[in-house]
Amino acid sequence: MLSRSVQLLSKPRNLVLASTSALALTYVATSSSSRPFHLSTASMSNKHNFPLKLSEGEWRAKLSPEQFRVLREQGTERAGTGEYDQHFAGKGVYECAGCGTPLYTADMKFKSGCGWPAFFDAIPGAIKENVDRSWGMERVEIVCANCGGHQGHVFKGEGYDTPTDARHCVNSISLRFNPKSELKYQGPGKNKA
Ligand SMILES: [Zn+2]
Repeated sequence: MLSRSVQLLSKPRNLVLASTSALALTYVATSSSSRPFHLSTASMSNKHNFPLKLSEGEWRAKLSPEQFRVLREQGTERAGTGEYDQHFAGKGVYECAGCGTPLYTADMKFKSGCGWPAFFDAIPGAIKENVDRSWGMERVEIVCANCGGHQGHVFKGEGYDTPTDARHCVNSISLRFNPKSELKYQGPGKNKA
């Protein structure tokens, strides 16, 4: 028993690396061991109070297993696989797949080449932001302001030639496209989370 414990203690990096991504590899290799390694939802600083509150069981009944994993457990779909990655429409809105709230207009979508739907802005008040310190990075998580459903992350100042130079990097499965809406983009600076 003693020798097994010693062996485990001597190989903590291998244990971590076996269960995490290449990004985590960078983090483990460059950070001090005194800093805790964060995973998924435990590290979200979610300070918002959302109007729509459902229990876990109610969400599971309402959503597919994959939708639940992404929307309610901060999951991410694989790059390049989402229904809306290459979807461009003249008009319409992308609504939250959890609660139907309009989040993005079709004319906010742009081709980022990142493998997920990308929007340079959101419908005013539709999106809230949380600091996300999972995977050894500090990113800004974006969630539906009505139900708190995880949409993805927002990155700013990357140099895209768009009105805001922000990139809302969103999972397709978090969205549902409504082609009938006439909502249009109203201009930058009108989305303060
Ligand atoms: Zn929602």
